Amino acid sequence: MSTRLHPDIEKAYRVLDTGEPVPFELASALGRLAGSEVLDLVSLANKVRSRYAPGEGDGVHACSIMNAKSGVCGENCRFCAQSRHNSAEVEVYGLVDESKVLEQARSLHGHGVGHFGIVTSGYGYLKVTPEFERILAIIDLLHRELPGLKVCASLGVLGDEPAAELARHGIAHYNINIQVDPGRYGELIADTHAVDERIETIRRLRANGIAVCCGGIIGTGETMQERIAMIFALRELDVSVIPLNVLVPIDGTPLEGAAPVPVTEIAKTFAICRLAHPAKIIKFAAGRETVMKDFQGLLMLAGANGLLTGGYLTTRGRDMAADRQFAGQIGSFS
Ligand code: SF4
Repeated sequence: MSTRLHPDIEKAYRVLDTGEPVPFELASALGRLAGSEVLDLVSLANKVRSRYAPGEGDGVHACSIMNAKSGVCGENCRFCAQSRHNSAEVEVYGLVDESKVLEQARSLHGHGVGHFGIVTSGYGYLKVTPEFERILAIIDLLHRELPGLKVCASLGVLGDEPAAELARHGIAHYNINIQVDPGRYGELIADTHAVDERIETIRRLRANGIAVCCGGIIGTGETMQERIAMIFALRELDVSVIPLNVLVPIDGTPLEGAAPVPVTEIAKTFAICRLAHPAKIIKFAAGRETVMKDFQGLLMLAGANGLLTGGYLTTRGRDMAADRQFAGQIGSFS
């Protein structure tokens, strides 16, 4: 009985030998693999992760986020509970008090979380507004009170001045996702703003020396080839951290009835992302516990070396102690 690998997987083993990312044409061919070949691809992605992106401590980069301002957003992102255009039930509140952010950051840091992200709903900040100044003061407070904690932010689209201020205030990473193949953003995600505004923000952040965390969502109605186009768009943007989310369909949003993506397709997406970004941090973000359930371990072994722990913006996550134990078990496959 032959145990030969599929010829395209054999070609992709070059990534393991050289550390050089897989070219687009080969990634595109890998996207068409099926059946047990997908497990061969997953195995290669795990080897590449282990050699070029071994992670920290137990092998997994863990970070947490806090929704510091929630709801009533004027944008129409089709997956999002916080959009005013959608009818999802969501908590609504303005920018929270700095003491509340400090309390949550302290508790997460105490549980071993090294990166803490402040997230606000809304389009973003083109100018330094009084609210933006309050966010800067919160960042300063966290740095003062929790010196070992890396502070990140996800505040939407930024103008020149706010981007420069975040750099001055020592932000570790800034998260802004392109979500899907940029050519499909308007149909699959939102049309109240353009993906180019987000891409421009990424360029602005990088010009200010801020490391960018940027990824996307699997399950918005995109094709496998469009997922690969997104992965390669992230290459061009040279982002530092790639969060991959699996859509959690929320009642009252246009994607509430979205068909679930087969696990094999999600595993292929993670594996191809690792082969296209051999040394980057790839984080499994939303959907890990709620949608992927028993398969989250498989996806962590398909090339991811990071996870978001302690809950998401508008959906719950798993207990952090359980995540830590899970990370330790995954790390032993390195
Ligand atoms: S993802 Fe952000 S910009 Fe889009 S609707 Fe939700 S809060 Fe608004």
